[in-house]
Amino acid sequence: MPQSFHPPQRTLLGPGPSDVSPRVLEAMARPTIGHLDPLFVEMMDEVKGMLQYAFRTQNALTLPVSAPGSAGMETAFVNLVEPGDTVIVCQNGVFGGRMKENVERCGATPVMVEDDWGKPIDPDKLEDALKAHPEARTVAFVQAETSTGAESDTRTLVEIAHRHDCLAIVDAVTALGGTPVEVDAWGIDAVYSGSQKCLSCTPGLSPVSFSDAAVERIRSRTHKVQSWFLDLNLVMGYWGKGAKRAYHHTAPINALYGLHESLVMLQEEGIENAWARHQRNHAALRDGLEAMGLSFVVEPEHRLPQLNAVRVPEGVDEAAVRSALLDDYSIEIGAGLGPLAGRIWRIGLMGHASNARNVYMLLGALENILADQGHALEHGAALSAAHRAYAADDKDLKAAVNG
Ligand code: PLP
Repeated sequence: MPQSFHPPQRTLLGPGPSDVSPRVLEAMARPTIGHLDPLFVEMMDEVKGMLQYAFRTQNALTLPVSAPGSAGMETAFVNLVEPGDTVIVCQNGVFGGRMKENVERCGATPVMVEDDWGKPIDPDKLEDALKAHPEARTVAFVQAETSTGAESDTRTLVEIAHRHDCLAIVDAVTALGGTPVEVDAWGIDAVYSGSQKCLSCTPGLSPVSFSDAAVERIRSRTHKVQSWFLDLNLVMGYWGKGAKRAYHHTAPINALYGLHESLVMLQEEGIENAWARHQRNHAALRDGLEAMGLSFVVEPEHRLPQLNAVRVPEGVDEAAVRSALLDDYSIEIGAGLGPLAGRIWRIGLMGHASNARNVYMLLGALENILADQGHALEHGAALSAAHRAYAADDKDLKAAVNG
């Protein structure tokens, strides 16, 4: 007979999900109440307010979609794109490819703007595509490409989209909470994220936010949104502020307790402090990895602090290293995808997992495993380099060590 499932205690340092804060897990174990219970409705309003804080927006249409980041992506596309539209999709990794799929499934035509994996999106190429396609109504791109660790310049790309009368859809699944996502200041029209990365929550929820211009487009659609579940005209009736809540679907109540708690934690820390913490721990990890002779895929100025794509050194078995980390140290890191499969590791330092303890633990484990594989390195150099990086950032050392 099957028995209760008891997963091991892992340290999740891959591309997501990342470690969930015990506070979030504890919140999720609280009693389930009705999804139209007045106290639950109050909590939903708090979640919306705290998501506005996280996205740095006043957008009224800001809420968590009751499904993972992929559903946030679909929410953006099915609501903003109509059959016959032209959409410029920038691709520099896996997730731009998913955007293309979404556009096609909306009955629209994607125009692809391609950049090499590991490079940010080139604004000049976007500008050229918009000049060549004046009929385009929407631009879509990924701010933080999880498959490569490259960050694109959202502010500039959105500004170009607007200059050509397009709305901008931005994927912030890996970005939100780890690096600035300034929805209002940058004028983003539609943005979606995921609960399981830099927000330190469990997977399964997708925070989204839509500007007034995006809402206007949704309201003036000539075709019905093809997805009943993700049709924001209907979802708004459930999540709309002040409005009498109409049943749309049964909210994932306990999952929302978890998101609420993770957003309380983000506010307690302060989002700028969260960005700084991700940067500080990235710098220590970087120095440690480089002291082991490892190199990064992405140029320093475009590197995401929360997702470190590192080349596998010559003669080292990529998969064996990941297996040894998991089996001997209970640490998970990610493999490369697409053209980078077998050539890189993806090391996430996201949300709750972005702390000095994890940096030291991973560097120590990796050093032993790489040495076993015959990679030449100086024992102890990586941890010393990380220590020096933290010491250089001396005043914040204590906070980082305590995670
Ligand atoms: N977009 C990006 C950039 C991602 O990294 C991911 C997941 O890793 C997604 C979209 C899809 O999110 P989910 O796996 O939560 O559906």
